[in-house]
Amino acid sequence: MSYEGFEEYLCEEGHLTTCDTMSDIPLLCEAGVNIASICGKRIVWNRSIDTTNGYDEDDMNMNKDKLEVAVGAIYQTYSSCNHMELVSDIRYKIPREQGYLIPDEEGNVYQFQENKS
Ligand SMILES: [Zn+2]
Repeated sequence: MSYEGFEEYLCEEGHLTTCDTMSDIPLLCEAGVNIASICGKRIVWNRSIDTTNGYDEDDMNMNKDKLEVAVGAIYQTYSSCNHMELVSDIRYKIPREQGYLIPDEEGNVYQFQENKS
């Protein structure tokens, strides 16, 4: 049975990017930080989520390794129409004990795992 899964990446600011495992590693964050612009900070953390044996929303909600929210998403509501627009993406605490990666200026990526006790 072949491996199935996806990758989670966090930038320096804690924005989450998820990608298919076969996708290229993102180097810069594309999360929104206000209505007009994206974050652009470097990706500094990554982990793989294995879905080979199935995966659904309940698994994610039960997942003890779920990322911890540092700052919630910020929305702006337009009073005229009650339309809500995302202003700033949710930010997570970077769980450095779960390994992280550091892309350098040339785009080389160094990935390592801190000792787990
Ligand atoms: Zn970011």
